[in-house]
Amino acid sequence: MSSKNEIEDKEIQDFLKFMKVADSEIKERGKIYKFKCPICGEEASGIKNTYNGHLWAQCEKCKMNVIQ
Ligand SMILES: [Zn+2]
Repeated sequence: MSSKNEIEDKEIQDFLKFMKVADSEIKERGKIYKFKCPICGEEASGIKNTYNGHLWAQCEKCKMNVIQ
């Protein structure tokens, strides 16, 4: 019954994990950072907007992406 919810929970957990790592790795605004994707272990990249600090990050390998 709950298998669909479990998949969604996993996706949310992965997303939050990815966002947390991206947010802690990307310290300086307006600069592209490379970091290890917490989901697949491949290289991910991200940047924080110079103006408002919004976070953008993505992993090419597992297609995880965050736009905050
Ligand atoms: Zn990945």
